[in-house]
Formats: sequence, structure tokens, C-alpha cells
Amino acid sequence: MEEFNLNLGVQKKETALPEVFDVIIIGGGPAGLTAAIYNSRARMKTLIIEKQAMGGQVILTSEVEDYPGFENVAGITLVQNMEKQARNFGTHIVYEEVEKIMDKGEAKELHCASGKIYKTCAVIIASGAGYRQLGALGEIRFRGKGVSYCGTCDGAFFRNQEIAVVGGGDTALEEAVFLTRFAKKVSVIHRRDTFRGAKIAQEKAFANPKIEFIYDTVVEEIAGDRGVEKVKLKNIKNGKVSDLAVTGVFIFVGLIPNTIFLKGFVKMDEAGYVEVNAEMKTSVSGVFSCGDCNIKTFRQIVTACGDGAVAAYSAQHYVDRVKGTEYI
Ligand code: NAP
Repeated sequence: MEEFNLNLGVQKKETALPEVFDVIIIGGGPAGLTAAIYNSRARMKTLIIEKQAMGGQVILTSEVEDYPGFENVAGITLVQNMEKQARNFGTHIVYEEVEKIMDKGEAKELHCASGKIYKTCAVIIASGAGYRQLGALGEIRFRGKGVSYCGTCDGAFFRNQEIAVVGGGDTALEEAVFLTRFAKKVSVIHRRDTFRGAKIAQEKAFANPKIEFIYDTVVEEIAGDRGVEKVKLKNIKNGKVSDLAVTGVFIFVGLIPNTIFLKGFVKMDEAGYVEVNAEMKTSVSGVFSCGDCNIKTFRQIVTACGDGAVAAYSAQHYVDRVKGTEYI
């Protein structure tokens, strides 16, 4: 069987895959890649199943400044290095969408949309989270025609134009600063008068002369003819409505976990985040979970990697226990 790399440029052709893996990791972001590095280094038969593109959300991040050891690194470079490291230790990678996990006791089956079934002793969920939609009128109509969820991907289309950024977290603030490389003016529209994002991200945004802030305000509609021409705004404190002329709207209003395929299989909270203990064990024996898809307070690349290492350690001990080779 051949495996193909989608976009990280880490090329490798794979020959035969094992019939049964020691561990299968669902998701190829920092959490999954870290788990893969640890499990492969422990000489476990390790497979990553990735649905779209290796790297997860980090590949949408233009500059990472808070991953220790790298003062400033492009998100894609960071995860390319992680993928290379995992592959060099022997991790297999396939591109498939897992639809269902069947717990057959000591063996688990991962059923994919292609009809393929992968067998494994342990499973590590690292499926991450994706962007949340704003829910404003016109958002879906203008997606790809002025509405974007990725500054790195689409920023260059808005050279010398006036654009809006919606949200008040780290992503909105960091991306607003990044987008000033292209745009003439960036209006950050936030529903409160203070920001959720880190102080350093706030300082950088406040210091940028191309950024203006519109507080206590929600976007009610994204409007235009063939492309975005304006956003209709409402101040939630005084009810005043207004129009802001922009040709692009970048939406960064948080995350939703990629865990629909786990519904009814592992315990999750109401929002769909996976419940784990300190060892990254889920409610199902032999199934571990790490990174942004978990219930946790601090979603960072470094915490995802930390979770991934713990999940890998727990999975390794589980597999050794099942095989009767655990070193106690
Ligand atoms: P976030 O921290 O959840 O922030 C989402 C923002 O969107 C909040 O300001 C929220 O407003 C606003 N929002 C949510 N729903 C909205 C709606 N319907 N209408 C208007 N505004 C809405 O999400 P994020 O910025 O994507 O970050 C996700 C996680 O990744 C966080 O844990 C963050 O710290 C982390 N992250 C870290 C870095 C870094 O360390 N460099 C970079 C990027 C992301 P309220 O504040 O009013 O709720």
C-alpha cells in the first residue's frame, strides 16, 4: 500500500502496513505527531490516520512565538519538522476519515469512510478542533468570496483593502496584526470591551496603527453583491446599528471539537470535548485522547504536545500489559 503526503512536503512512500498496529493515532496535529514520535521511538507499530492535511490548525498560523526553543517559527515549519521526526522513527501515515471505532476488547477496529478497517491494540484520539462559525447572515454565501477563517491562506488577497476581523481571543488578535501586512486597515470587531487574548497579543494589536477596535459590537450581516462590500453592525450596549465598508471579513470566534465520530463511544461534555484523566485515559479501556479535542483549560501547541507525550506513555503501558511484556 502506498501512502501519500498531502501538503507538508515530507515525502515518503510506504510499503506494506502491519495487519494489526500497536497504536493508531487519529489526527496529525501537534498532539498526534508528538504521540507518534514517542510511540515509534518505543518501537511500537504506530499509525497516524489523518483526515485532511497533516499539522492541524497550526498550519494556519503564520507565526508561532510561544513554542519553547523557537523564537519565531511558521506553524507549517514546526509541524513539518514534527512529521519528519515521527516518520524517521517509523510512524506510518495514511489519509482516511475514521467514522467509527469498534471496541472488540483487547483489539479495536477503526472503520473509515473508504470502507477500510484498521486494527490496533490501543487508540489515541488527537482529532483536534476546527473553527467555529459566526452564524451571521451572509457568512455562508460569501465564504471564499470575502469571508475567511485563515489569515495565512487568504490575507494576500486583501492588499491595500479595508477588512474586518471578528473575535477577541488570541487568534483574532494575532491574525489582525498579521493581516496588517496586506490590508490598509483592519477593524477588530469584538462583542465585549475587553479581550480574552493574552496580554502580549493585546499589546501588539494596540500598538499597530493600522488596527482599529470596535467594542461591544456584533456582526449581524455580511453584505454585498458579488463579493463582500460591508458588514452590518450592532452595538449591544446601546442598540445602535451601523454599516462598516469592508471587502473582507476574517472570523476567529473560537473552536469546536472534531469529535462527532466519537459520539456514544467515549464520555464527552456537552460541547463534545473528550473527558480524560491525568493519564489521558478516556472512559474506554485502551483508548486515550490528547490535545485540543480534550476538556482542558489551556489550548496551546505546547500543551497539545504535552498531552500527546502522556497519551503515548499510557498507550505504551497498556499495549505492553495486554501483550504481557510490561516492565514494572
Ligand atoms: P477563543 O480563545 O475561544 O476566543 C474566541 C473569541 O471569539 C472570544 O473573544 C469570544 O468572545 C469570541 N466569540 C465567540 N463566539 C462569538 C460569536 N458568536 N460572536 C462574536 N464573538 C464570538 O478562541 P481562539 O482565539 O480561536 O483560541 C482558541 C484557543 O487556542 C485558545 O485556548 C487560545 O488561547 C489558543 N491560541 C493560542 C495562541 C498562542 O498562544 N499564540 C494563538 C492562537 C490560539 P468572548 O471573549 O466574549 O467569549
